Amino acid sequence: MYDYDLLVVGSANADLVIGVERRPGAGETVLGSDLALHPGGKGANQAVAAARLGARTALLARVGDDAHGRLLLDSQRDAGVDTVGVLVGGAPTGVALITVDPSGDNSIVVSPGANGRLAPEDIRSATSLLHVSRVVSAQLEIPLETVVEVVRRLPEGTRFVLNPSPPRPLPEEVLAACDPLIVNEHEARVIVGGDLEGTPEDWARALLVLGPRSVVVTLGAEGALVASASAEGSTRVPSVKVEAVDTTGAGDAFTAALAWKLGTGAELAGAAAYAARVGAAAVTKAGAQVSFPTAEEVAAL
Ligand code: ADP
Repeated sequence: MYDYDLLVVGSANADLVIGVERRPGAGETVLGSDLALHPGGKGANQAVAAARLGARTALLARVGDDAHGRLLLDSQRDAGVDTVGVLVGGAPTGVALITVDPSGDNSIVVSPGANGRLAPEDIRSATSLLHVSRVVSAQLEIPLETVVEVVRRLPEGTRFVLNPSPPRPLPEEVLAACDPLIVNEHEARVIVGGDLEGTPEDWARALLVLGPRSVVVTLGAEGALVASASAEGSTRVPSVKVEAVDTTGAGDAFTAALAWKLGTGAELAGAAAYAARVGAAAVTKAGAQVSFPTAEEVAAL
């Protein structure tokens, strides 16, 4: 009945990375390393992560009619993602300009480009994709009104998963559709608004009050915490102890794995335990999409 285990609605960016001795200040020019060009963006990352695990995955996104757009389409197809929902044109492909210093600290400028042109009417035109997808996941690197349209068009029985990154306050109708809302500490703070007090258990309670059916708080090396509106309390889900090399994309890999597992019928804590292993595997390698594990690699961890 479903053509896709997961439909990712989100961003696709070209990441342009230059290593520098020191990040430049105002008015300053510094020389850096050779340019590295990587496919990125939270939507594109999630789709690749899910496909690599074996999920039948489609991406609904917008890229420019340019070389960066072709790079992103190629990386999706290489991973086995169906790009039937990737629209081309309207603005240049989104770009992240990243400088990284030797301590690993970075400065990033994002030009949303085509991501900012993924409009509610694009969702209306792609409603048939929503109907053939078991789970739909989204992030916030596309316009919020586009995410609102996804929620409004969500077919009965299709599960919606949101990682509100970069975070901003969310309308009630979006929050009410999330099952789960997946946040790290920073995102939790912005969504709750004001002070985030106490333990991650307290944060999860504060988030549930806002209306999502369930909540997952990711805690880096500590794993995650899951809580659901339909049950008392919350459950800690540990991660696997690994040698962390680069945490870029760990959250995207976690979210994709969780969304896929939930669609297979797993309950929340079990799906989060699997997703934590996927996130852990992703931090053992440099880069984002290139670091995402296959199901075999997760099993071997
Ligand atoms: P985000 O990148 O969104 O802040 P996290 O850093 O919490 O997300 O990472 C997502 C998940 O990846 C974590 O819940 C955990 O399961 C796994 N993970 C991240 N960093 C590590 C680490 N250093 N060791 C083991 N697992 C990790």
